[in-house]
Amino acid sequence: MKKALNQYNKLVDIIESTKEEVYICPVCKEELIRNFGISRQYFSHPNGSEDCELKFNLMLKNNEKILSSNEIDILNRYLQRRIELKLQL
Ligand SMILES: [Zn+2]
Repeated sequence: MKKALNQYNKLVDIIESTKEEVYICPVCKEELIRNFGISRQYFSHPNGSEDCELKFNLMLKNNEKILSSNEIDILNRYLQRRIELKLQL
């Protein structure tokens, strides 16, 4: 996977990771191996589990959905306020 949790429970991209830190799988909380090659950089499980990667991608997708629905909310509120202002005028 491309992202993992560091010791501060912060999601870190493999590109921003350092070899001094320990990285943990956000799904199963297992310690991950940091593979930092020239052509490929990724975190992998010591036991080679790919389930977490699939689950994690789903989690990220769900987060995106929450984000976009929030944006729609903000837009709706903004439009609502404009309508209210017009009514007051
Ligand atoms: Zn895992």
